[in-house]
Amino acid sequence: MSKTTHKFQAEVEQILDLMVHSLYSQKEIFLRELISNSSDAIEKRRLEGLKDEKLRSDDEGHIRLSFDKDKKTLTIKDNGIGMTAEEVNKNIGTIAHSGTKAFFENAKKLKENPELIGQFGVGFYSAFMVAKKVVLHTQKAGTEEGTVWESNGDGSYSTESKVREEGAGTTITLHMKKDDDESAQDFLDEWTLRGIVKKYSDFIESPIKMLCTRQEPELDNEGKPVEGKTITKEVDETLNSRKALWRKSASEVTDEEYSEFYKQTCKDWTDPMDRIHYRAEGTQEFTSLLYIPSQLPFDYNQREAKWGPSLYVKKVFISDNVEDLLPIYLRFVKGVVDSDDLPLNVSREILQKDHRIKSIGKALLFKVLKHFETTLKKDREAYEKFWNLWGSTLKEGIASDFANKEKLQKIALFKTSLDDRLTTLDEYVARMKDDQKAIYFLTGESLDQIKSSPYLERLKKKEYEVLFLTDPVDEWVMQHVTNFAEKPVENITKADLDIDTDEEKKKREETLKEKETELAPLTEVIQKTLETNVKEVKLSTRLVDSPVCLVSGTHDPSARMERIMESLGQAAPKSKRILEINPEHPVITRMSTQTSDTQAKWAHILYNQALLNEGSPIVDPAEFTRQISDLMVDAAR
Ligand code: ADP
Repeated sequence: MSKTTHKFQAEVEQILDLMVHSLYSQKEIFLRELISNSSDAIEKRRLEGLKDEKLRSDDEGHIRLSFDKDKKTLTIKDNGIGMTAEEVNKNIGTIAHSGTKAFFENAKKLKENPELIGQFGVGFYSAFMVAKKVVLHTQKAGTEEGTVWESNGDGSYSTESKVREEGAGTTITLHMKKDDDESAQDFLDEWTLRGIVKKYSDFIESPIKMLCTRQEPELDNEGKPVEGKTITKEVDETLNSRKALWRKSASEVTDEEYSEFYKQTCKDWTDPMDRIHYRAEGTQEFTSLLYIPSQLPFDYNQREAKWGPSLYVKKVFISDNVEDLLPIYLRFVKGVVDSDDLPLNVSREILQKDHRIKSIGKALLFKVLKHFETTLKKDREAYEKFWNLWGSTLKEGIASDFANKEKLQKIALFKTSLDDRLTTLDEYVARMKDDQKAIYFLTGESLDQIKSSPYLERLKKKEYEVLFLTDPVDEWVMQHVTNFAEKPVENITKADLDIDTDEEKKKREETLKEKETELAPLTEVIQKTLETNVKEVKLSTRLVDSPVCLVSGTHDPSARMERIMESLGQAAPKSKRILEINPEHPVITRMSTQTSDTQAKWAHILYNQALLNEGSPIVDPAEFTRQISDLMVDAAR
């Protein structure tokens, strides 16, 4: 095949343009990306070689760096799986749409933090940060045909078939940018390269080798150094220690090493918030090094986003994102698990069914929850920081993991009506008033909205503390929190909320009875007027300052739950709710003396007010404002 020229996919061209013209800091990460590609390719060849003997390499898998100061080239060579011509076109000429989209959405961040390039599956192109021309010569294992790919990082690349002398593997030659860009040529130096490898790629399994020159004293016949004379020797050195960090004991590892390892393996560019380094002995022997990231990844909570630590068996990489190792409500936890007991040739499919994976997962979950408990106890500030970022994910477990529900309830934090601090349920219970029968909570879109909710009025008066919940998952989670420390947990918007003592209840019932007869004609008019919207009109015992509120029947979904379901496109038939009216409120007393026409008008206004108060949209805002205007005109008469 002769040389052919191809145009890059438009998106690749844009990415290259960004690489070449905009990303100036931390150019050194290009080496990490290329080494990591080589390491993946070596790993792939090893895995495929287990199944097919023909694909194996005679030589140990390794990566070799070399440079030529005169020609201004840097070469990264591996004996990995290699690529066919078709694969070259696919992998290095185009990129999957999902990667590109995310890449450009994050372009601004990238300019400040080029390190995160690897996240988007476009690492190879980072070579153009330092090179004006890149030549890639590759040959797929098991084939006899190689491909040379070449590009100047502009709109096109060429390919040509050419057998690779060394057989299968990939050689990437970077023609470093010219002299006027000093920084790119600084990489053509043994100690610079060593430093970068140590920093980013030290734990890579395969050796990263380089021929280094050493000056040694010249020896005479008796083996004694000749004074003033040295000889230059070439020694083949391995630049990476290849020591898997998680296998070291915690006392041997510095914070910087932990952080750097995290950034390399978990493709994040910020230091992690916390780590859990754990060695399990006994029935299941494994080591794990898990991290809690300090910020949300860009694809967090996307339905197809994968989670789970990477699995190694005796330091050999098996698979990333092993979801069976951690439950979905710990999907923010990243890191590695290294088992001593699993066979090396386990496949992804087998993993899912393997009871050993399940039992490692169980031990891991136990350890992680224990770690959270300890942090909560020993470092409240750190725990609150953690909770603010990951709490809304972690608490999903209360609803989905029955076995650990108790534990999760204990480590959950809540905002409350008391003050701005976060509280645990234990702390709440300790503060409960003597006559308080239950743990109360209220859900809503925002704290501001909750704080001014009419549902709080009576509880506030009684100085009962109320948990404030504003995460969308809370509606679902709180359905599963029915009891804590033998106290019932109650939503204060439910119809049958019972906060009174027996004595208060008796007194209230007496006055209510009187009021009920007195207000019966009014309730009837309201009921009739709002027939299509509410199922019942009742005198309220929970209101103090507001004239009305809407409540859900005990077994009906709350208004907020209905809105969330609607926003997910799963609208259920709306259940009619109960309108509670405050018999003591001047509006209601005034209303009871009006004509039934006026009562009907006011009923509409009050209903809309109740909707607004609970954060629900009103059906016809124009109609509502017209009603208010009419009311003003009437009042002015
Ligand atoms: P990513 O590695 O995140 O997928 P890259 O742009 O770095 O994105 O590489 C694109 C693809 O090119 C890789 O997924 C891999 O299939 C292929 N590739 C890159 N470098 C090598 C290599 N040294 N050997 C074999 N394949 C490679």
